[in-house]
Amino acid sequence: MNILEKTELIKNQELKVEDNVENFIDIINKNNKSINAFLEINNNYALEKATEISNKIKNKEKIGSLAGLVFGIKANINVEDFTISAASKTLENYIGSYDATIIKKIKEEDGIIIGMTNLDEFAAGSSTESSYYGATKNPSAPKRISGGSSGGSAAAIADKMCDIAIGSDTGGSIRNPASHCGVIGFKPSYGGVSRQGLLDLSMSLDQIGPLSNDSSGIAIALNNLIDYDPHDCTSLKWDAPNFLDAKNTDDLKGKKIATIKQFHELSDEKINGIIDNSVSKIEDLGAEIVELEFNYLDLTLPTYYLINYVEFFSATRKYDGRKYGYKIEDVCGEEVLRRINMGSYISQQEFSGKYYKKALQARSLIKNEINKLFNDVDLIIGSTVPKLPHKIGDKLEPMEMYAYDVLTVIANLTGIPAGSIKAGESNGIPVGLQIQSKPQEDYKILEAMFALENSAV
Ligand code: GLN
Repeated sequence: MNILEKTELIKNQELKVEDNVENFIDIINKNNKSINAFLEINNNYALEKATEISNKIKNKEKIGSLAGLVFGIKANINVEDFTISAASKTLENYIGSYDATIIKKIKEEDGIIIGMTNLDEFAAGSSTESSYYGATKNPSAPKRISGGSSGGSAAAIADKMCDIAIGSDTGGSIRNPASHCGVIGFKPSYGGVSRQGLLDLSMSLDQIGPLSNDSSGIAIALNNLIDYDPHDCTSLKWDAPNFLDAKNTDDLKGKKIATIKQFHELSDEKINGIIDNSVSKIEDLGAEIVELEFNYLDLTLPTYYLINYVEFFSATRKYDGRKYGYKIEDVCGEEVLRRINMGSYISQQEFSGKYYKKALQARSLIKNEINKLFNDVDLIIGSTVPKLPHKIGDKLEPMEMYAYDVLTVIANLTGIPAGSIKAGESNGIPVGLQIQSKPQEDYKILEAMFALENSAV
């Protein structure tokens, strides 16, 4: 049963909302101790909400489009009365005093929030190992990292602990763990989803988005999440389509889709084998496949990290121990401290021309290159992550950790939408296919996802 079918069953009283919630509570009770996907759950709140929605349905009152669906929320998004720790000791006692715009929407549409999911400290990482509360295990590949930084959200979906999980993606943090855990993750066009209430990692790159086990879950979530928000100055005024309209897509005739030579060269051989298979499937679905070149791959990581350091440094100045929790530098982990120190150094006036301005110039180059590629094609496809997830606890150098992000940061630097869908497995370890399109053409990605899904059944 996919998420759309589930909403129908709930509406028709064939599935009780309470049963949906209780089923997830059982799984969480059984597995969360070992997986560590959720940092906090509130069963009573979820069950109360379930009864409330159930009664509405019984009384034939109007219900929202998310009625009875259960959500896990990354613990860097404000939800009233939950702990918004960003998986950092800095904010271990910080209780959300308001709902982020997207949380308000989820609640208004009768979605049920069951708890807060694990992440790398302040979303700065690709493995969820830097969480102050310990790593999240990958339910699909035991002993391996779940990916990150939204590792808790991806693992919660992979282990069927909720219907839809919400993550944030600054350089791949939705798509990377989706790829490693074998679920679908979607980063919408920059500005599509309000960031109000999200703790910034790097505000010009951050975007909130959904993870789910099927495309209908993603479409339903996007229909609700994408909206103009006057409280977010980068919010788009966009008359977005109904993403569920893509659900019956069963071919990709008339679509021109590119693979990128450099993305392929950089990816692990085992991953390429699986991705090549997906490319053939997409060709069989009627799409015209072309191979294009992206000439700035060596610039993407330095550009991304320079911008990330500077914006993160600035975002963390409010954690000075006066208003929120502890002074961040006193209690944070190694990676967060590295970013603060680097950001502070790069931000010094005398260096701005040398580093930050150069990074902004490089960002324009990358943007132009991507725009050029999209002049000619509808979608760009390839591996989401160029290497397989390592075993939890393996010691990686910072540069090795950053290398996971090389194919995902492009979408954040350029503001384009990008999703990851499971392409296959290498020795039981999931591998994700990344699908990217032009800004505000998120719908085309959904079409491709639905087409792949529909052709598989
Ligand atoms: N891994 C990237 C980083 O550490 C991306 C993080 C994210 O998207 N939140 O910056």
